[in-house]
Amino acid sequence: MGRPIRRAAVIGAGVMGSGIAAHLANAGVEVLLMDIVPPNLTDAEKRDRAARSRFAASGLEKAVKARPAAFFHKDRARLVSIGNTEDDLAKVRGCDLVIEAIIEQIEPKRALFEKLEGLVPEHCIVASNTSGLRIAEMMKGRSEGFRRRFLVMHFFNPVRYMKLLELVAGPDTAPETLEAVRRFGEDALGKGIVLGKDTPNFVGNRIGAHAMMATIHLMLEQGLAPEDVDAITGEAMAHPKSASFRTADLVGVDTFVHVADNCFAALTGDEDRKVFEVPSYIRAMVEKKILGDKTRGGFYRKGKDGSVETLDPKTLAYRPRGGDKEIRNVCKEIGKIEDPRERVRKLVKDTGKAGAFAWSVLSRSLAYAARRIGEIADDVVAVDDAMKWGYNWELGPFETWDALGFEWVALRLRKEGVPLPASIDEMIAAGAQGFYAEDGRVWDLRRGEYVKRTVDPRTATLTVLRKGSAPVLKNDGAEAWDLGDGVLGLTFKTKANSIDPDVIKMIHDSVARAETDFRAMVVANQGEHFCVGANLFLVVMAASQGQWDQVRDLVQSFQLACQRMKYASVPVVAAPYGMALGGGLEVCLGAGNVQAAAETYSGLVEVGVGLVPGGGGTMNLLWRALEGVPDGATVDTYALVTQVFKNVALARVATSAEEAKAFGYFRREDGVSFDRARLLTEARARAIGLAESGWHPPAPRAYVLPGESGIATLKMMVGTLVDAGQASEHDAKIATKLAEILCGGVGGASHEVTEAEVLELEREAFVSLCGEPKSQERMQYMLMNNKPLRN
Ligand code: NAD
Repeated sequence: MGRPIRRAAVIGAGVMGSGIAAHLANAGVEVLLMDIVPPNLTDAEKRDRAARSRFAASGLEKAVKARPAAFFHKDRARLVSIGNTEDDLAKVRGCDLVIEAIIEQIEPKRALFEKLEGLVPEHCIVASNTSGLRIAEMMKGRSEGFRRRFLVMHFFNPVRYMKLLELVAGPDTAPETLEAVRRFGEDALGKGIVLGKDTPNFVGNRIGAHAMMATIHLMLEQGLAPEDVDAITGEAMAHPKSASFRTADLVGVDTFVHVADNCFAALTGDEDRKVFEVPSYIRAMVEKKILGDKTRGGFYRKGKDGSVETLDPKTLAYRPRGGDKEIRNVCKEIGKIEDPRERVRKLVKDTGKAGAFAWSVLSRSLAYAARRIGEIADDVVAVDDAMKWGYNWELGPFETWDALGFEWVALRLRKEGVPLPASIDEMIAAGAQGFYAEDGRVWDLRRGEYVKRTVDPRTATLTVLRKGSAPVLKNDGAEAWDLGDGVLGLTFKTKANSIDPDVIKMIHDSVARAETDFRAMVVANQGEHFCVGANLFLVVMAASQGQWDQVRDLVQSFQLACQRMKYASVPVVAAPYGMALGGGLEVCLGAGNVQAAAETYSGLVEVGVGLVPGGGGTMNLLWRALEGVPDGATVDTYALVTQVFKNVALARVATSAEEAKAFGYFRREDGVSFDRARLLTEARARAIGLAESGWHPPAPRAYVLPGESGIATLKMMVGTLVDAGQASEHDAKIATKLAEILCGGVGGASHEVTEAEVLELEREAFVSLCGEPKSQERMQYMLMNNKPLRN
């Protein structure tokens, strides 16, 4: 198994080093973050340890304050200690891994490795996060023993969020070193590993920079505007919405120019080298410090009135955002198609300007990627993975090629005289239908045949796991499949996985079925988000027609469904990811057991639509806050009630599974899947584990709640916010209803309250708020605009 990596040092506390340190801490690794001693210290400061480690301290502080957050929870920062490379370097003696993330220059890196060689223990792996320096150059002068334990670990920024981790072994890197880091990267850090070769900018940045540069040159040649290009190269091309220029503004124009320059300088033998030549207008942007979001202006900027302005490539002046109407409309329509393959097909088939430009970009970049196989990576899967995990493309180049039709693209490229490697000719001659065969095999361009693809069984999808040709249960809103090993898997099938009467019915039905024919159940949704709440449309419809009984029945059936999961005779595990908001979180609270993706955004956000959580969420959240209090302890529950009140009244969203634990939404012992691709198998394993370790349902509990005095104090708190203009009168009305539920109703002093009583309070508050015109306005506004109305 090799030695575990428990302690690491990260050297260089800049953008990357601090992000890497934070993510190692997220994974529970102790980290020492070091940087140089600042060069301009006063004599007094030179003797001051804090001043000497100031650079590392500031790196850590930036990571703590980073938005989006670098740490899963601020507590994780306690695992990071700081130091400087003059006083603290010897501490690497206690480390299992050292990651270098200093300035991208060969001399300082070499000098550092020389020092490290004399200090690191024998088992310690040393990695560089270089973007493109050669391993052989960095290792000049190092012993064989050191070279065996050295490799490149190329992270992507922001480290926590970008799944890609490229690993590059040098000629002397021991296979055990690569294997240990691959395992650590996947299992501990949740990364997707791409094995690259020691070539400039490795895999993702080589293909990414080529695509971006080709796009810019073609834009200038064809006279398109940047916003036209972004319309075409965004969702329509199965790339992220930020497309080309918005992405460059986010990353930093200087960073991207640096990568292009690096390619141009290093790739002297590249047949498409010219593409990496940075156009003079972009060079001028860097000179004038028009660098993107960090300088509040790049290819775009926000004008004084808040509207977006575009930098004109010819004049280098900003003008109102415009662009070609035809291109915009065509791409907008294509963007609405759900299947990314269908989107690129439609785009390339378009007979207007959008289709022509798309083909000119794709024909150049697809062929370039094909010519790189063998040089930058061994297979097409590595390139596709790198682009999906490092650039957020929905389809990698070879998947795009397949989507357009392998042979159609190949023959068209050939006809247009685009150079293709001989391996593609072989593929055509062999009659291959695509890089990816339907049986899961993939074409090996070097061997000239389909080969089996090694897929990690821990990333098995629902389609792979489910048994039989039909679901065990199915209705219009959800279905439940046999996932093997006695586990029933419930999946919502509604739009955006919203909760409606069919979903609610299926929760009841699947629990009943799991109790008779299975030993455990998981709630395993698919799609972008786990669930962003109940179907608001149904609530608005019923409310606007004054059908209060219908609203009450809907809420009650949802409450009962959540209670049904909680008290099921088999364990029920919810597997949230992405957004789990409102009803989505209530399902998790109801299931009681959670295996969450690390990147889960959860909260009870019902106040935003003028309501209180009505699916047992208020009660379950409160019960969780109170369950740790031992019987007989004379604790004033008011403090706990207040915290639950704040979380719901302020619609606080936890921005990671760890934070959700800290907020009390998930339990401390709930599972977290670092790699979302493993969520399903890990949730299933958790369910089986619970079933096999003697699962028994909990017994309903009752708690003493604060009563009238609690309500009065919470109301006072809200009153202060209203007086300060931070909350509206309607906010106060909702908050008062919430306070009444959480304090156990308006019936006098502090008293013991049962679950059923709280659920009734919850229901009545929900129904009465549905009758409030301002709540109805909030719901309608949300349906129309997909954002909350403050009224
Ligand atoms: P940065 O400029 O933000 O940070 C570099 C840090 O290293 C600075 O804090 C600097 O004080 C420190 N430093 C310089 N020389 C040092 C030395 N001899 N010893 C200790 N510390 C030293 O740079 P960055 O963007 O974090 O890049 C760091 C490395 O990561 C580079 O090799 C870069 O190519 C690579 N990289 C960058 C990105 C990115 O997106 N920025 C992505 C992947 C890899």
